[in-house]
Amino acid sequence: ASGDEKRRLTILGSTGSIGTSTLDVIERLGGRKNFEIAALTGNGNIPLLAEQARRLGAELAVTADAERYGELKESLSGSGIAVAAGRSGLIEAAERDAGWVMAAIVGNAGLAPTLAAARRGAAIALANKECLVSAGSLFLEAVHKGGARLLPVDSEHNAIFQVLENEQRHAVERIILTASGGPFRTKSLEEMRHVTADIARAHPNWSMGLKISIDSASMFNKALEMIEARHLFGLRPDQIEVIVHPQSVIHSMVGYSDGSVLAQLGCPDMRTAIGYALSYPKRSALPVERLDFAKLARLDFEAPDEIRFPALRLARRAMEAGGVQGAVLNGAKETALEAFIKARIGFLAMAEIVEEVMDALADLPAAATMDDVFAADEKARHTAAGLIE
Ligand code: NAD
Ligand code: MG
Repeated sequence: ASGDEKRRLTILGSTGSIGTSTLDVIERLGGRKNFEIAALTGNGNIPLLAEQARRLGAELAVTADAERYGELKESLSGSGIAVAAGRSGLIEAAERDAGWVMAAIVGNAGLAPTLAAARRGAAIALANKECLVSAGSLFLEAVHKGGARLLPVDSEHNAIFQVLENEQRHAVERIILTASGGPFRTKSLEEMRHVTADIARAHPNWSMGLKISIDSASMFNKALEMIEARHLFGLRPDQIEVIVHPQSVIHSMVGYSDGSVLAQLGCPDMRTAIGYALSYPKRSALPVERLDFAKLARLDFEAPDEIRFPALRLARRAMEAGGVQGAVLNGAKETALEAFIKARIGFLAMAEIVEEVMDALADLPAAATMDDVFAADEKARHTAAGLIE
């Protein structure tokens, strides 16, 4: 795309935190004048999905929840907007002929539709980090074979992507992912043992969906991001560092062989990364808050604590083991996270369960096909569920 013509876009997960921010960015970038919406997908929030589809004139609206098909159909009656539901509906949305796809479904549920978009060669604004965590090199292979392109939306990876533009890739020594440290940065293990999901979801800097907010509190989000970065940027595990930076102003950094470190900075607002991905290779004007360095006065850094946040250690283990261990880590994590949200297990038990599942499934062979990835994910969920019982 030249960047001047209308961008034809499908948004997978339009009703979520990234999805609604994407709609906001689209509207600020001219809305229907500059964007044509092929498809929108959501899950349980039918009124919002229907309202978005009408507002943007989408051609197709899809709910992942097959049982809500009738409700969505009724909400859109008379609009001329096509309706579909369930897994096949999500694939249909991803396969529509949009040149651009925002992949913003949460969790492993996003893998199959994003894969479908990759296989047909779409430019993918990738928020759904789980694709790379679970399917890693197989997902990248599908991207390359399909002639697709990945534009990272995760703020850290978007920062690194920006820094690497027009730089000498062979001179990259390391990347430094920043982490806010979440709401429990200064809490003791004893304090963390008893926190509820409502306490864990309150992120100090970013406003995000429920699951990623709790993953930030446990630092499983950073664990996923380490694995995501490894695949996205083709690095060895030892080239990926994490530093706690409570202000979330530096979104991540790249260290080069001459000792230089380049960083991307901004206010913690996902619309910058979303706007960058949707405008690529241009930059658009966005009304996000500007950094005021005098007001900021200082930026702080501290080493991450892998005793209180074992997720980081588990990510390293998964990266070093390779194979399907990313899928195992993520499948076990998603199962443990759901159990924590339902108050069936404590906060610290999440990492304990993930580690036990990784121990139990350490010998799974590497995936030859995507089906092996889905099977490893399923085994991890099953094993985690058994431990939770
Ligand atoms: P969210 O929970 O706010 O929204 C998730 C979206 O996925 C919604 O549209 C929901 O309807 C849909 N969905 C939920 N379950 C589904 C299922 N089983 N099948 C199909 N669709 C389903 O999540 P979010 O915070 O917007 O995060 C979306 C993705 O972006 C995640 O992978 C997350 O890690 C990543 N991400 C989010 C942020 C952020 O600021 N929120 C930042 C970086 C990366
Ligand atoms: Mg992130």
